[in-house]
Amino acid sequence: MAMRIPYALARQIADQAHAEAPQEACGLLAGECNTVIRAIPLRNWARSPEDRFRLDPEEQLAALKEIDADGLEWVGIYHSHPRSAPIPSRRDIDEARDAGLLHLIVSLDHAKPKLKLWRIDGDSVTPVDLVFDSEAREDGGSQFSLRHRIAILVAGIAGFLLLVAISVSLLPPSPVR
Ligand SMILES: [Zn+2]
Repeated sequence: MAMRIPYALARQIADQAHAEAPQEACGLLAGECNTVIRAIPLRNWARSPEDRFRLDPEEQLAALKEIDADGLEWVGIYHSHPRSAPIPSRRDIDEARDAGLLHLIVSLDHAKPKLKLWRIDGDSVTPVDLVFDSEAREDGGSQFSLRHRIAILVAGIAGFLLLVAISVSLLPPSPVR
């Protein structure tokens, strides 16, 4: 099973991780079917947030109500690794209680932020494919520009036909012999 995430959301999570570094950033993922639709940032409630995270319980409760009100499902948790690879740590594995939730980790330990998705069930840790949905880019994506191009083409043809019709109607009547 692969999970889709809009490009803009992935960037929002990476931006939050950068803003909160050197502390770990965290939040909830909400979505439907196999798509992440929202990422809700939460305060890191851990006592030493530089090398661990704990979701602020009050903010988590409010976020879950919001997810429910939006008709979405709580699909996972995300957090950042400011100085290590996007792989669940021993503590991440020990503290993951709900096997139904996915765990997204964003690593800042590279030139570009790296996002990896995991399923943690007890001691078994499995990677989950993460597909970046380019159609959700803020620039509109390719599908929109194709539609745009077709509209321009159709308008161009219509304009040309109109011009031909006008010029024909303006022609002087052919001389009668
Ligand atoms: Zn971690």
